[in-house]
Amino acid sequence: MQIQDNRVVSLAYTLKDDNNEIIDESTDGSFCYLHGASNIIPGLEISLTGKIAGDELSVTVAPEQGYGVRDDERIQSVPREMFPDDVDIEPGMQFHAQGPDGQNIVVMVSNVDEATVTVDGNHPLAGVQLNFEVKILAVREATAEEMEHGHVHGPDGHHHHD
Ligand code: ZN
Repeated sequence: MQIQDNRVVSLAYTLKDDNNEIIDESTDGSFCYLHGASNIIPGLEISLTGKIAGDELSVTVAPEQGYGVRDDERIQSVPREMFPDDVDIEPGMQFHAQGPDGQNIVVMVSNVDEATVTVDGNHPLAGVQLNFEVKILAVREATAEEMEHGHVHGPDGHHHHD
């Protein structure tokens, strides 16, 4: 069975950056997603279309087809007093904030000095070329409920959730 929209794919993957560092990999041996529902980044989804169980492929995804390019406008300096006094603000901490269109975004503290906290709303993988090694393990039809929800309900489609 070929990978196409409204099919559930399970695969094993390793994701590396251009320095050959592993950024991410499938845990417990496999990762499931619903094809055609924007569950995964577009550059990877396009490359998987038409593949079948047993296929192995290397996919290189440019930032534009991955987590986007870095945008300096998403880096902001915020007065230290905007943060609670009793919290030690340190680089690497993440906060929920409102983006320019009112959407919820995660921002990461990139720098702290006495007066100012610099936060970066770019995705940590923005601007990074993504190098995937993928092995397709299984392909099945999605259930009607999975198609309606736009995501996978587990390997057999029967996982219940709220
Ligand atoms: Zn659901």
